[in-house]
Amino acid sequence: MDSELNIDITKMRQLLITRQTELMEICATAKESQDPVELDQTKVGRLSRMDAMQMQSMAQETQRRRELELLRIKGALQRLENGDYGYCIKCDEPINEKRLLLEPAIPTCISCARLAEVG
Ligand SMILES: [Zn+2]
Repeated sequence: MDSELNIDITKMRQLLITRQTELMEICATAKESQDPVELDQTKVGRLSRMDAMQMQSMAQETQRRRELELLRIKGALQRLENGDYGYCIKCDEPINEKRLLLEPAIPTCISCARLAEVG
């Protein structure tokens, strides 16, 4: 296969590490400021209690997404080390450079990502 990639590996690694550091900092801060939901009904009304629980589950969802992104970044850095970076982990085709620049940790090419969305 002579599909050459024109991506700047050094630059991509830099982008990934910057994003990784950023996410890890946000995660650390978010964990510190995570307050347990107040379930004492004498203190909070039913509605605000539900609000608080909704806010908490939203915060948990955001946190979950951050952790997923961190995992993806970790995987991308690993692929950089192995020389596999820039190739789709599913079909081995080169990933579009613009796509990589938009999201350096992206593991799949656009057609595989579309397939994943449908299926
Ligand atoms: Zn693919």
